[in-house]
Amino acid sequence: MGQNHVTETLLNAFARDKIAHAYLFAGPRGVGKTTTARILAKALNCLKNDDGNPCNECQNCEEIASSRSMDVLEIDGASNRGIDEMRNLRELVKYSPVNAKFKVFIIDEVHMLTTSAFNALLKTLEEPPPHVKFIFATTEPNKILPTILSRCQRHDFHRMSSGDIDSGLKIVLEKEKITIDDRTEHLIISVADGSMRDALSLLDQMTAFCGDKVEFEQASKLLGIIPNALFFGVSDTIRNQDKKSLLKLLYESHSKGYALTEFVSGLNRHFLSLLICNADAGEELIEMPDEVRQRYSEESQNWDPKDLLRLTDQVTEMESKLKFMQQPKVYVETMMLKLTEMDSTVSLNDLISKLSEVGRAGVGQQKPAPPQATLFNNSASAKKGDRAEPVLKDSGAETGGEKGGEEEIEKKSVEAERGGNRLQKVQDQWDEIIAAMAQNGTSLSTFLSHGEPQSMAGKRLIISFPKKHKFQIDMLKKNVRKIETTIEKIVGEVLRIDFIVSENERDEEQSEAEDNPVTQRMVKLFGGEIVE
Ligand SMILES: [Zn+2]
Repeated sequence: MGQNHVTETLLNAFARDKIAHAYLFAGPRGVGKTTTARILAKALNCLKNDDGNPCNECQNCEEIASSRSMDVLEIDGASNRGIDEMRNLRELVKYSPVNAKFKVFIIDEVHMLTTSAFNALLKTLEEPPPHVKFIFATTEPNKILPTILSRCQRHDFHRMSSGDIDSGLKIVLEKEKITIDDRTEHLIISVADGSMRDALSLLDQMTAFCGDKVEFEQASKLLGIIPNALFFGVSDTIRNQDKKSLLKLLYESHSKGYALTEFVSGLNRHFLSLLICNADAGEELIEMPDEVRQRYSEESQNWDPKDLLRLTDQVTEMESKLKFMQQPKVYVETMMLKLTEMDSTVSLNDLISKLSEVGRAGVGQQKPAPPQATLFNNSASAKKGDRAEPVLKDSGAETGGEKGGEEEIEKKSVEAERGGNRLQKVQDQWDEIIAAMAQNGTSLSTFLSHGEPQSMAGKRLIISFPKKHKFQIDMLKKNVRKIETTIEKIVGEVLRIDFIVSENERDEEQSEAEDNPVTQRMVKLFGGEIVE
């Protein structure tokens, strides 16, 4: 089944009476190599037909089918890999077949033989008695000595298509009177990944568990398959930057006992499917039930392909690093939360078109417009370093976008000065802002109280801190979004915050001293100057 290029050649050989002495069947596991070897052995020895189609009824056919034949020997290369076994085999080759026309030696996993065993085998292959046929099967033909390869007729078996596995399963289902719905069948096909044997053993496992009627829920539970719905939920929360729901879903996945590695690789496939469906007619390329395909197709329209690409990259990285993590659960949770913080990608074309618009308007000739957060509305967010790192580090769009943003801000600063004293407004409400920050923790509010709004350029507010408090800046930076949100609530303006350490600390302290009424009085009374 599904290997017509092999079977047709073999039938042809029978028709023209040109059967080789030795065959090599190469190909992935579970695609029918050993099965074909057995059929070939039957065809060679069938008492009724000699056209390559064994009758499956005569004594020889039956004996071979039930592995009772004295003349067809199946040898497992993995457990009989030494020179002694091959010497024994050479002895057996000498005897004529008992009941059949040919003695057929089927050696499975032949690449496992040692070099000396290969050499012993080679002697037999060089001068095979006319009553002997060899059929070798292997998943790794590259490991077989060239001297052996050159003495075999080689046939390469293909990985089986979903359609082939589907029709194979249908035959078995009908014969065994098993009822199974489409989703479950697709599940089996996708897990089997091109191997008919795997598909059949999965089906076997399921019927042992569920009986004649296999339900999707039971089947997916049995296989430890995480339902698609969970991944759709996760990608939704990432798109909406909804951390709370995301954590809830992660908890749900954990409590249902899904392995982290399964979760991450499933999520990876999920984003990949979205990415494929996002392309023109891409949904035709993915193998899944129609209803699921439809859902992927619809959901993919909500995404920018570049964002999907970055998410796929991030999740792939997560997948490869996961096994090295001491605390994989914490790692996955952190990384997942990071994904919700990713900014939307800006394409280079968008930037260029903005650039030319700006150029035409005659304002700042070489200044591109700021990135437009089409997907993730993070325009009020902090400095780049505090966010999830962008995946496409070398992307021109990424760096261009950031740079564009900075320059845009500077350009706007001129207008800002003209537009009235917005800094004053922030300064006036500074105490209120600090008080409101206490909601996020008293330490944040206290730390912030050490700084003061120093200047404003466009949308950027600069808060300066005395040197002795500069270590608190790190803590504030990590929470910059909370501060920005608080300011937005109170001042009513979306501002980006930068923290700086006050450079002229001495002057500040001096002026503080000068402002002090007691000091002023002392200077006045006694004369002198303030040194420190
Ligand atoms: Zn027969």
